[in-house]
Amino acid sequence: MTRAEKVKRLEQYLSEIYPKTECFLDGQKDYEFLIAVLLSAQATDKSVNAVTPILFSKYKDLQSLAGADPKDIYSVIKSVGLGSSKSKNIVNLAQKLIADYDGHVPNLRGELEKLPGVGHKTAAVFLAEKRGGKFIPVDTHIKRVTRRLGISNMNDSADKIEEKLEKSYDGNNHINFHRQIILFGRNICMANNKRRCDLCKLYFCKARK
Ligand code: SF4
Repeated sequence: MTRAEKVKRLEQYLSEIYPKTECFLDGQKDYEFLIAVLLSAQATDKSVNAVTPILFSKYKDLQSLAGADPKDIYSVIKSVGLGSSKSKNIVNLAQKLIADYDGHVPNLRGELEKLPGVGHKTAAVFLAEKRGGKFIPVDTHIKRVTRRLGISNMNDSADKIEEKLEKSYDGNNHINFHRQIILFGRNICMANNKRRCDLCKLYFCKARK
């Protein structure tokens, strides 16, 4: 099978088992969602969703976040991990959005990636979720699933896997496909021996146990 054929089959199968997906992270306003994605680095979505309502009720707008002491933000977000750097990044990000973008979140990936705490993947998640951007950001689940299926190689970086997926995917709902692969990685194609190949209908997979 070609990579495009594997991606097509994966997408068809995941649309059968996960016909409807929803964004994993809470965050109504653009800057709130961007901060939620920033917080989700090396953390579970559940842990982020547990702290963001507290954070955004304590700091009700971008101005209050920009004027906050990072130590006070740390006390709210510490349970997600990497709290010290994330709290500083949140304050710097709020200041930068106010100073350079009139309080708005920019629409270009290149501009987003220059913001404090916002990397390549964070920018793609924001744009795909909030702007309909045609990106398939790659997390640990997507890395594992695509490697097992031979869609990516062992040594491929996240950026390389993203590039391969985006080139091979011929649908129009990139963010849905991104969420579907993550759900599959969380629930069926889990790490190591926990994976449930007995439930999986991707018969072309050479990693089946
Ligand atoms: S057969 Fe097993 S390893 Fe392969 S994709 Fe399905 S769950 Fe993952």
